[in-house]
Amino acid sequence: MKAYRAALLRFDPAADPRQAAVYEADGLLVLGPDASGAEVVQDVGAWAALAPRYPGLAVEHLPGRLIAPGFIDMHVHFPQLNVIGSPADGLLPWLENHTFPEEQRFESPAYSAAEAEFFLDELLRHGVTTALAFATSHPASVQALFAAAQQRDMRLITGLCLMDRHAPAALLNRAGPAGTDATEQSLIDSETLLQQWQGVGRRGYAITPRFAPTCSAAQLRGAGELAARYPQAWIQSHVAENHDEVAWARSLFPQSSSYLATYADFGLMRERAVYAHCIHFDAEDRALMHATGAAAALCPTSNLFLGSGFFDYASAEQAGFRYGLASDVGGGTSVSPFHTMLGAYVVGRDGRGKTGLSLTPQHLWWQHTAGAAQALGLDGRSGRPAVGNLLPGCEADFVLLNPQATPLLARRTARAANLDELLFALIVLGDDRVVERTVIARSASARPVSPS
Ligand SMILES: [Zn+2]
Repeated sequence: MKAYRAALLRFDPAADPRQAAVYEADGLLVLGPDASGAEVVQDVGAWAALAPRYPGLAVEHLPGRLIAPGFIDMHVHFPQLNVIGSPADGLLPWLENHTFPEEQRFESPAYSAAEAEFFLDELLRHGVTTALAFATSHPASVQALFAAAQQRDMRLITGLCLMDRHAPAALLNRAGPAGTDATEQSLIDSETLLQQWQGVGRRGYAITPRFAPTCSAAQLRGAGELAARYPQAWIQSHVAENHDEVAWARSLFPQSSSYLATYADFGLMRERAVYAHCIHFDAEDRALMHATGAAAALCPTSNLFLGSGFFDYASAEQAGFRYGLASDVGGGTSVSPFHTMLGAYVVGRDGRGKTGLSLTPQHLWWQHTAGAAQALGLDGRSGRPAVGNLLPGCEADFVLLNPQATPLLARRTARAANLDELLFALIVLGDDRVVERTVIARSASARPVSPS
């Protein structure tokens, strides 16, 4: 067993997410193996109450530091890290001029492998311990990302990008060697990769239609059939990010009642289906999200950068569908969960065409940890693994934060009168400098991944 003494943040799953944080100013976190040997939280609480139960246990004392659950990025593009910060006139020109040319390079296994190493190290350096990530339409990119995640024992979900039309030829799925066409081959490759990686250690597979306009009806139908055959696998895609895209999707699938409904019509909405953006929705779309158990990945820095629009929190709450936060790098402007949480606050405040509200700091933090885990179906329900929290039984992924990381942060956090003020100061002023250490749960023994 291994134990840490520091300030501690976790979330009460039974509480209102707006005020669900449980905070110990002087806490103890005890880690150890579960029955399968995976490293999980064994005990957590106030130091004074817990310490007497563990005489002789080696405790690492970290005064002035805050231990919090590792962050979860619900939507990030592994092959787009190198095009972050590319100027463009909205989504479609941004894809054409910057993103598609870079994604073509991932056909090379060697390029994919090198990029996967950098990508995951960058996520960990920023405190992200779980990610649902897009790869490219090249199987090599998926293999490389899974292999790099396995080497780090990181909880990572990805899958082969399905796109058999409306993109440069080098990015489309390819025909198979035995005469199978590109659509059929993309589904065969998806199932092969799924069988190889789904549930292997902490890896999960996501059936990944890029978005409806780049997928033929046959490809979406095949993806839906895969999703029905493998209910434990995830589904990831994009929906309702901006008006041009919505109009394009509607013109391609006029028989569906909305862009979102297109996915439902092909069997692609269910629990563990995650749709990025979900901005331009009506009440029927929101009801469909709720009824199917699908979740939204909110991408505030990307939406602000590309001018896509503002997610409507009040209407989402009313409809009761699940959601959590995501960087959407490279459309997003930072891998940092702090930047994403601040972006979400700004998006929440906007009151043009929707209700503007002030998301509480606890709610923002929850959306990037315990709330994101709930949206992904990784919050421990039905015996499934739990991440994004530090309750007994949760996988022991956590970050060690330094609230004094910069001169201004030290001054501001010293004046924090309560937990919300402390968390909000970190959200507004924080970045990778705050993340002193990211620790990933190990099946044998925990090895800290140092931010170097
Ligand atoms: Zn995206």
